[in-house]
Amino acid sequence: MNQAQLAVLRYGELVLKGKNRHRFEKTVFEQVKRGLRPFPAIRFEREFGRIMLHLNGVPYEDVLPPLKRVFGLASISPVVSTELELERIQEAAASMMEALTPQPDTFKVTVRRVNKSFPHDSQAMNRLVGGAVLRALPELKVDVHRPDTELKVELREEAAWLYCRVDQGAGGFPLGSNGRAALMLSGGIDSPVAGYLAMRQGLKVEAVHFHSYPYTSEQSQQKVRDLVRRLAPYGGSVKLHMVPFTEVQTRIHQAYSQNLLITLLRRAMFRITEKLAEAGGAGAIVTGESLGQVASQTLASMDAIGRAVQMPVLRPLICMEKKEIIKIAEMIDTFHISILPHEDCCTLFLPPSPSTNPNLNVIHSIERNMPWLEEVIEDAVLRTETTWIEAGDERFDRFDAFF
Ligand code: ATP
Ligand code: MG
Repeated sequence: MNQAQLAVLRYGELVLKGKNRHRFEKTVFEQVKRGLRPFPAIRFEREFGRIMLHLNGVPYEDVLPPLKRVFGLASISPVVSTELELERIQEAAASMMEALTPQPDTFKVTVRRVNKSFPHDSQAMNRLVGGAVLRALPELKVDVHRPDTELKVELREEAAWLYCRVDQGAGGFPLGSNGRAALMLSGGIDSPVAGYLAMRQGLKVEAVHFHSYPYTSEQSQQKVRDLVRRLAPYGGSVKLHMVPFTEVQTRIHQAYSQNLLITLLRRAMFRITEKLAEAGGAGAIVTGESLGQVASQTLASMDAIGRAVQMPVLRPLICMEKKEIIKIAEMIDTFHISILPHEDCCTLFLPPSPSTNPNLNVIHSIERNMPWLEEVIEDAVLRTETTWIEAGDERFDRFDAFF
């Protein structure tokens, strides 16, 4: 096939609706430009409802992976540009259709004549181009209602543009278009997936990780940074808050070590996350909880934990099966990192039988007997270390003073 000189990027349908369209399109455009920074030769052209890329020699296959990570893009197609001559257009049409894998059974041609001086009108061109394709690929059939492939031809002032292959985009909402959230990120399989889904839904996330150094290792923190680095290509760069949780955990454990321990620790984690979220202007907490997965993820447990905070808690995986979650983890390339062995701060002082049905009144009365709790929580917030994790290269990570 002729090498594509251009690519057409289409916004998602949702993006096209309502008064926010302009802002949404601008965000998507910025993310496209960011993703394509490694290819400075590319020129961008914004048109109504789409973005055109002039590839200037950059192979389409090279730009596809970063584009597939831009939320708000519905689809992407390579575009071949030919001279405005019938024969050139017919040749290009036939060779583009031949190059499709898998080969479609049916197709239709849709010609749009922007250039009114082109000698054949769009109806005539549909037949002329369709005929050429059928001669080259006699197995193919025309279906104008539900074709497997639509071959589009745009007759422009200077050239004809042809495209038929359609690559799915990431879909979703443009980054940050639905606000900001704090993602509670462990080293496990679930929370990175929850983070990805939150980002896809238009939330800009900052990650919050609790570690119990020196009880948990430096490697387990590196693992979390590696996970965030897998999320960063979807969000430009992602802030990571590393919360030193040892002191909170030890103090709580010294005061109470029975079956509600996990609930108490999780409530403390939620409170710290809420404080970090508020300071960063986030409006929600995102977790990787999934109903029934473990003792702390029963309805009663999640309720008792969630009530420690005022902020809404979003649980994108709540009704998903593990195998669906793993599929997404594989797609976003976090699975192989998540399954590396690591210590989690919560496995440090596990009670013999964690409660699956914690009673909120009991919890409140235990917490009332911990008058120092608020202070150690505050202290953990103050000692939190924040880094901006960049996609790609560790050398570009930036430390950030939180307060
Ligand atoms: P994951 O695979 O995300 O670790 P999980 O199924 O192992 O989830 P839990 O370990 O019970 O479940 O954790 C439930 C949720 O609590 C996690 O998805 C995450 O959002 C949050 N969480 C747990 N441990 C931490 C941690 N050390 N730091 C930050 N968040 C955590
Ligand atoms: Mg876990």
